[in-house]
This record gives sequence, C-alpha cells and structure tokens, in this order.
Amino acid sequence: MRCGKPVRREETEYCRDCTKTDFSYDRGRSLFLHQEPVSSAIYQFKFHNKRIYGSYFAKELAEEYREQIRRWNIREIIPVPLHPKKRRKRGYNQAEILAKELGKLLEIQVNTDCVYRIINTRPQKELNDKERRRNLRKAFAIDSDWKPRGNVLVIDDIYTTGSTIDAVSRLLKKRGTEHVYFLTVSVGQGD
Ligand SMILES: [Zn+2]
Repeated sequence: MRCGKPVRREETEYCRDCTKTDFSYDRGRSLFLHQEPVSSAIYQFKFHNKRIYGSYFAKELAEEYREQIRRWNIREIIPVPLHPKKRRKRGYNQAEILAKELGKLLEIQVNTDCVYRIINTRPQKELNDKERRRNLRKAFAIDSDWKPRGNVLVIDDIYTTGSTIDAVSRLLKKRGTEHVYFLTVSVGQGD
C-alpha cells in the first residue's frame, strides 16, 4: 500500500492510481474514508468557516500517526497551498490550519510559505488523470531560497487521485528532499 487508499479487490496491493502512475511521493496515509459523516464535516471545515474542526482533525492525526511520523523522520511539515485569490475569498486555508495544529502537537516545524500556488486551477472533473496531473504540475511553485532540512510531510484535507500531493512532492524532490510523505484527513475509495 502506497497511498493508503483502500482497494476493493483483496489480491491487489496498489490502488489503480498507484499502479499506473509513478508518483513522486514515497507514501502516505489518511484517517478516514471520504464518506458521511466525515465528508460533511470536511465540507464545513473547508467552506463554512468551521476552522475549529481543524484542531479536532489534527489531534486525531497526531494520535493515529505519531509513531509513523517519527519513523518517517519528518523535519518539516508543508500544507498544500491555496491560490492567494481563493485564500482571500475563503479567509483561510484548511490544509494550513491542519498543518499548524499538527506541528504544534508534534513539535515539528511548519512552513506555510515555501510552496505556493501560481495558477488557480478550476475543478478538474472533466479532465482525465494525465491532463489533470499536467495541469497541476504547472500550478505550484517553490521559493527559490527553500532548502530541505530533512524529510517532508505534506498535509491536505482530502486525497483523491494523488495529483495534488504529487505536484507538491515533485517540487520538493527536485530541490533535493530525500523522502516526501503525506497525511490527509480523508481518502476516496480506490479501484
Ligand atoms: Zn494508491
């Protein structure tokens, strides 16, 4: 298991996305399957200013993955950024809230500025996986001063196809990060 997505068929180790894609990240885990009541809670957290859910989710993540994170030897936590326009409109970035809370709980440095979004991607449901990945790879940039201090943990709210985490991870690895892991609150069902 690489992305942590539950697979329907018992005999398969990797989900379909992990089988056919060479993801840049090493591996990752998610707390919950993206279904009720978690999906509604995330929606509220994301779009209806329920920032308080962030500390609840972060506490759960810390509890569940403290040991795992220690084994991954994480030196820096980086949230998936929102485009500045989107962030202004929403007033906050849910992934940033999660990352900051988790960093506090585990006493790991959080860097919310080094990776940023330069293109405000539209919802990509009409695109196929390849087009989506190509689009997302151009959507992020990394600060020219940033240098890896060790392995990185990327944080987001939901893991779906892996394209977003992959795009961020690609930048971090290009800049010399040895291992990139991720944690999200929820994950979609795999094929
Ligand atoms: Zn997978």
